[in-house]
Amino acid sequence: MNIHEYQAKELLAKYGIAIPAGYPATSAAEAVEGAKKLPGPLYVVKAQIHAGGRGKGKFKELPADAKGGVRLAKSIDEVSSNAEEMLGNTLVTVQTGDHGKEVNRLYVTDGVDIAKEYYLSLLVDRASGRVAMVVSTEGGMDIEAVAHDTPEKITTITIDPAQGFMPHHGRAVAFALKLSGDLAKQCQRLAAQLYTAFIELDCAMLEINPLVETDDGKLLVLDTKMSFDSNALYRHKDVEAMRDESEEDPAEIEASKYDLAYIKLDGNIGCMVNGAGLAMATMDIIKLNGAFPANFLDVGGGATTEKVTAAFKIILKDPAVEGILVNIFGGIMKCDVIANGIVQAAKDVNLSVPLVVRLEGTNVEKGKEILDNSGLPIVSADDLGDAARKIVAEVKKTA
Ligand code: GDP
Ligand code: MG
Repeated sequence: MNIHEYQAKELLAKYGIAIPAGYPATSAAEAVEGAKKLPGPLYVVKAQIHAGGRGKGKFKELPADAKGGVRLAKSIDEVSSNAEEMLGNTLVTVQTGDHGKEVNRLYVTDGVDIAKEYYLSLLVDRASGRVAMVVSTEGGMDIEAVAHDTPEKITTITIDPAQGFMPHHGRAVAFALKLSGDLAKQCQRLAAQLYTAFIELDCAMLEINPLVETDDGKLLVLDTKMSFDSNALYRHKDVEAMRDESEEDPAEIEASKYDLAYIKLDGNIGCMVNGAGLAMATMDIIKLNGAFPANFLDVGGGATTEKVTAAFKIILKDPAVEGILVNIFGGIMKCDVIANGIVQAAKDVNLSVPLVVRLEGTNVEKGKEILDNSGLPIVSADDLGDAARKIVAEVKKTA
């Protein structure tokens, strides 16, 4: 689960981490009210969306030369006019995709005089089974570009969870950022605080970009992105309460209610598969046959009629879907039970697009018989390649 920048900063402040003062706002009047509580004379008006790259982003509704989603304002009036211009409009950044995200919330912060920008993030590194701190002197820019063009400018420091954060980790972070004296001390303290926050809050990722050194020698968290391990959210009611469903895909929210792993994609062939690996393979083979998957969907091990029906409904809500490919391996579940579920669900939703079903596993013959005798235009397939070819052909027929 992701949260907004202002919420992440609220959480970090509880760990004693230095952040610029700021106030969230949902109207220009609120933005002005917030700005009046700040010392000035420089303010920053920041779009709050679950995506990075806001500063370089573009508003769909504004002229191409208009400013992006992070704007410096030199007066309260400028805060107001910028807020007016941003709220209700759609911000497109490198992370939002072409459709962009509507800006319904702003964060008005105290403007900082920046001497230097750094990058610092914490994430769960599966390969080492540790928390990794990724640091770079190249802050404020696209870290993927830094990793690609100048990988030597990125340092990774891993922390053994059994041992925890040690002073030498802090020194390594400060050294990698080329900090000395009091700044190095601030950096070591910050690294320790971030590690504690990361562990205590069950974060999946905590990214600070940029971490800044101010003109008067202070380290400040200027921008942060935080995401959490959903399986641990039950331990953090306060974090769970920060969920902003308006930032999430409605179909994905609906799917999570049925314990379905669904991710919307851009193609026209809906997929319903059991097992994440098989779902990935199914998407690959659709592409191999010249079409594109409309979604990733793993119905899990116990694909009940109720779940299959919910899955059909979610897939069909996507207007781009022109055909559905069901690929189920009956291991624990028997194929005849699954076939009955599919037939029932297809009737329930009045299925109007071609449906190709590939079943394999226990009672597969019985399962195919049920599909063939259902009276529904279900095309049954023998293997994965056959299934992909058939659904692509069916969709081309109707196009
Ligand atoms: P992002 O574009 O979504 O990553 O948003 P950021 O919060 O990182 O802001 C983008 C850039 O705006 C930063 O890298 C800074 O260069 C600039 N910026 C943000 N806040 C301030 C500020 O308080 N003072 C100054 N001078 N620049 C800022
Ligand atoms: Mg940033």
